[in-house]
Amino acid sequence: MKKLRCKVCKGPIVIELRQHNVAFCAEHFISFCQNQVARTIKKFWMFGPEAKVLVAVSGGKDSLALWDILNELGYDVDGLVIGLGIGEYSSSSTQYTRDFAESRGLNLIEYDLASTHGFTVPDAAKATSRVPCSSCGMSKRHIFDSVAIDGDYDVVVTGHNLDDEAAVLFGNVARWQSEYLARQHPVLPAQNGFPRKCKPLIRLSEREMAAYCVLRNIDYIVEECPMAAGNKHLEYKDLLNQMEVDSPGAKHAFYFGFLDRASKLFADDFEKSLQTNAHGSEEPLSPCTSCGRPSSNAVCAFCKLVERAAPTSEPVSVEITPRPDMIDG
Ligand code: SF4
Ligand SMILES: [Zn+2]
Ligand SMILES: [Zn+2]
Repeated sequence: MKKLRCKVCKGPIVIELRQHNVAFCAEHFISFCQNQVARTIKKFWMFGPEAKVLVAVSGGKDSLALWDILNELGYDVDGLVIGLGIGEYSSSSTQYTRDFAESRGLNLIEYDLASTHGFTVPDAAKATSRVPCSSCGMSKRHIFDSVAIDGDYDVVVTGHNLDDEAAVLFGNVARWQSEYLARQHPVLPAQNGFPRKCKPLIRLSEREMAAYCVLRNIDYIVEECPMAAGNKHLEYKDLLNQMEVDSPGAKHAFYFGFLDRASKLFADDFEKSLQTNAHGSEEPLSPCTSCGRPSSNAVCAFCKLVERAAPTSEPVSVEITPRPDMIDG
């Protein structure tokens, strides 16, 4: 059998990418990943070289790799980590993030749910009797938005990779959720007081991100969030991985085929979604009387959650709709 060589330098390889029919040595695989991100930012007009970028970091491989890549590409990029209070998982995630930031001399903003708002994600799940990802996803969105707007960031970026986006797309297509399909775009413009949001890792897979971290000496939390058990997206990822084994490139074709050929079919829904608030309501937005963030009700959903989940407060009614694109590990 012919021995594979690096596509660029013909040296010994560290990874083969069957979906692209290429193999790379360490140096050229790292460049490949960085080039894929640079290409994605350019192709989707995500942000310019002068942008002030905020990356949402979880301590996992994707967000730390994204932070590293953007820093290597020369962007002005700070990190934001949220202490979710999910036991050992949260404390380790935060520690991995701190260690990474310190090793690169990067600015990390730490935001702790318990000390800032008096509740944790498990408290919120208990108070709302909903799956933890519902209140967790909503809390993270609220905090990303607030920190980005208050800190004058031009854009919030998240480490959703190709596997994440293909799995979310699979779930949205399986139920023909047109509102979610409309918003499943790697760029959401700033609107109605919400910051611009982009996903620069969409061309890179989970396996590529894990390899990138190893080669760049990035230590990350390997364990999945314990609250993710039963998450449908993990099942969809398994299904797509099976397809990928038989047909390399299947995930890429599925997701980019949607962006190239099908997403425009939902353009009207997308335009409509821009006129709505972050939770899909068409009610006009006004500042939340408690936190000042845009809301379709007098008190926003996050502040209602705080009232309900913080142990010292009186319960109030709260409606939370999980948005699949923000559910992650
Ligand atoms: S799986 Fe992700 S969204 Fe769900 S509780 Fe854990 S960190 Fe939050
Ligand atoms: Zn090489
Ligand atoms: Zn509020």
